[in-house]
Amino acid sequence: MSAFQKCINPQCGAEYEVSEVIFKCPKCGDLLDAQYNWDKIKVPGKLAKFGKRWASRNEPMNLSGVWRFREMLNFCDDQYKVTIGEGQTILQSNDEVGKYAGMKAGRLFLQYEGLNPSGSFKDNGMTAAFSHARMVGAKASACASTGNTSASVALYAHSCGLKCTVFIGSGRIAFGKLSQSMDYGAQTIQIQGDFDDCMRQVQDVCSKLGLYLLNSLNPFRLEGQKTIMYRIIEGLGWEVPDWIIVPGGNLGNSSAFGKAFYELKQLGLIKRIPRMAIINATGAWTLTDLVNNKKLVWNGGNVDNKIISDYYDDLTAKNFSPHTCASAIEISRPVNLKKCLRALDVCNGVVRAVSDADICDAKAIIGKYGLGCEPASAASVAGLKLLRAEGIIGDDERVACVLTGHALKDPNVTVNYHKEKQGAFSNPPVEVPNNLDEIIKLIHSAG
Ligand SMILES: [Zn+2]
Repeated sequence: MSAFQKCINPQCGAEYEVSEVIFKCPKCGDLLDAQYNWDKIKVPGKLAKFGKRWASRNEPMNLSGVWRFREMLNFCDDQYKVTIGEGQTILQSNDEVGKYAGMKAGRLFLQYEGLNPSGSFKDNGMTAAFSHARMVGAKASACASTGNTSASVALYAHSCGLKCTVFIGSGRIAFGKLSQSMDYGAQTIQIQGDFDDCMRQVQDVCSKLGLYLLNSLNPFRLEGQKTIMYRIIEGLGWEVPDWIIVPGGNLGNSSAFGKAFYELKQLGLIKRIPRMAIINATGAWTLTDLVNNKKLVWNGGNVDNKIISDYYDDLTAKNFSPHTCASAIEISRPVNLKKCLRALDVCNGVVRAVSDADICDAKAIIGKYGLGCEPASAASVAGLKLLRAEGIIGDDERVACVLTGHALKDPNVTVNYHKEKQGAFSNPPVEVPNNLDEIIKLIHSAG
C-alpha cells in the first residue's frame, strides 16, 4: 500500500490501513495523519509538471484544483474519487490591500478560496474526504459546523449519493451558510449550544449510528486542504512565498499547510519552507493564549497535555463560550490543536489575535479593493497589519493571505458594518426623496 494512517503521537506511533474508519487513534486517542510510502508513488520531479495538467482540463481529475495534485494525496483509487470542480481559485496580487496592511507594492497576494463551488475552502477537504467515504463504502455522513462545513458537506453528499446530517449551534450560524445546507438537501439539526457542544454530540452520534464523520479531525480532509498551498506556489510561478497568513479556528488549515510544506521539502520539490502566521479573533483566542502565554509547543510531539487539559477545565469552570463576529473561527477547543503546534514548528510560525473591529475594517478594505470575503477570512489581513506594526513581517517580504470564504456567506455582518457606521470604512446607503432633482443633487455632492 502506498498510503496508511499513523498516530501523530511519537510515543504511540500506531499505524492503520487507510480503509479503517477511526479518526482518532484507538490506542491512545490522539489525532491521525494520512502518511505515504513515497517510494511507491510516482511524484513528478518538478512542481511545474502538475501545472501541465491544465492543458487537458476536460478530464475532471485535471480540472479539479485538488486532484490535479493527486500524487500528493494518493490514498484512494480514481474510481472512488468525487469531484465537482473544486479548487478553481485564484491568487491575486493586491497593492491597495497591501498598502492598508503596510506592505510595499507587489508584495501582498490574496488567495481567494471563496471561489470554490460552495463558497469556501472547505470544498478542498470535502472532495478528498468524500472520496475516502466512498472508498470505505459509507452510506451516510454527518458533521458539526459553524456553517461552511455544513454547506460543503451537504453539497458533496448529494453529489455522490450519501445521506447527510449536519449539526449547528442554535442562532450561531451565518445566514448564507444556513441557507446552503437547507438548499442542498441536508438534514439540518440545530442544537441548543455552541460549536463545541455540537462537536461533542456529533462524535457520539457517528460512533453510535455508524455515520461517516466529516469534521476536520478527519485526516483525509486535511489532505485535500494541502492543495491550497500548492496553488499559492503555482500562482507565484512555482515559487514559495515568505509568509502564509491564515485565520485560526479549528486549525485544520494551518495543520494541513504545515504538512504540505513539510512533505514538499522532504521530496525536494521546494528548497525552503515559508513562515506561517495564524490569526485568531480575540473572542476565540485559545491558540494564541496557549502558545504565547502558556508557552505550549510541539516539542517533537511530546506536547504537554496538562497545559491543554488545565486550560479546557478552566474554560468549563468559567462556563466560557467564545464570541466573535467571525463566526467561522468562533471555536474555543480547536480539534486540530496538536497538528497545528506541529505546523507552527515546521513553519517557524507565529500566532496572534485581532479584534472584531479590526477584522471588520480589514474586511471592508478587501471588499473595496478585492473580491470581498467573509469576516473570518479578513482576520488574515488584520493579522498582517498587526505583524507589520510589530515589525515581525517586513514590508518587502512576499506574503499570501488565505481568504477562506465568500463575501456572501455572512451578509448580516457586512450590512451592519456599513449601515450602522461601525468602522472607518463604512459605506452606508443614503436615503433620498423620490425626486429626480434631489437624486442628481446627491450624486453631485458625492463628487
Ligand atoms: Zn496513538
